[in-house]
Amino acid sequence: MTNESRNRILVVDDVAMIKDMVEKVLTEQGFVVSSAGDGAEALKAIRRDRPDLLILDWELPKLSGRDLCKILKGQASTKYIPVIMLTARTATRDVVEGLNTGADDYMTKPFNELELLARVRALFRLKELEYELEAKNRLLEQQNQELEQLATRDGLTRLFNHRHFQERLAFEYSRVARYGSPMSLILMDIDHFKRFNDTYGHMVGDLVLKQSADLVVSCVRECDIPARYGGEEFVVILPQCGIEDAATVAERIRSRFERNSFDGGESGMLTVTVSLGFSVASKGSPDSPAELIRLADEALYCAKRSGRNQVVRAVQQVSSA
Ligand code: GH3
Ligand code: MG
Ligand code: MG
Ligand code: MG
Repeated sequence: MTNESRNRILVVDDVAMIKDMVEKVLTEQGFVVSSAGDGAEALKAIRRDRPDLLILDWELPKLSGRDLCKILKGQASTKYIPVIMLTARTATRDVVEGLNTGADDYMTKPFNELELLARVRALFRLKELEYELEAKNRLLEQQNQELEQLATRDGLTRLFNHRHFQERLAFEYSRVARYGSPMSLILMDIDHFKRFNDTYGHMVGDLVLKQSADLVVSCVRECDIPARYGGEEFVVILPQCGIEDAATVAERIRSRFERNSFDGGESGMLTVTVSLGFSVASKGSPDSPAELIRLADEALYCAKRSGRNQVVRAVQQVSSA
């Protein structure tokens, strides 16, 4: 049996008698058949109705079956419509040429009804397999995307996770080493978050962490790379960004947190402050991504010790090169 939703056949022939005969044979077998009498009319009908299969006469006025087939096979939206060429030509050379234009099958006139039906069914079977394959491919692609999300994103905040951050940092660092333009790294830690959790509960803490992630994202450029570094610590890689720009971004984050009210659910609107440390890499200094992190971390520690809710830049050796 043909799949009910994919049984529409367009018959194209300029000889009414043949067209009617093919139409009758197919209709009797339950196919939904429409027809066209020349190539131009057929092209219009195909674009409008997207038939599931085409029975195409070779010799047609206006646009020949051969040229029509070429057009269809050259366009993404129509190239998978199976085509059976129907023609009075019987020479091997003609058969080869017909198939070379992209026709899927070939029959000569006068045709045998049973053979035509068998060929139509065979093509529909192939088509069905193609659809199944396509559906499976789509599913695989979707599952791949989901896996990629799981592997690179943090479940709570949807920011990049620590591992992905390390990969991107290594990549961006290698670009600095190669091209010499600077990059910066901001490390941020929420102040007294343990106390916050103790006061409002872990669930409210999670709510604030999610909103914190969004707030950080809203403070940086599209090309910057924010990630969840760990617990209540966030990190931003700023490619092509020197020390002064990094200072501006870090200060923007600090002040946005200071002014922001977080939705704490039943606990009402809540506030937190953050401390930030940042470091910059340029011309091979510091000498590794790990060292770049260590410098930012040291600066962050300094911000904490100096009273929190502030930004501190790393103390860095200027390379002597
Ligand atoms: P400081 O200002 O020195 O950073 O103080 P702090 O309390 O924030 O620092 P500490 O590192 O001692 O504690 C971090 C707290 O963050 C401990 C933990 O309860 C909380 N935390 C870490 N991850 C999560 C999380 O996923 N959800 C919630 N709700 N809290 C978290
Ligand atoms: Mg003809
Ligand atoms: Mg911490
Ligand atoms: Mg903290």
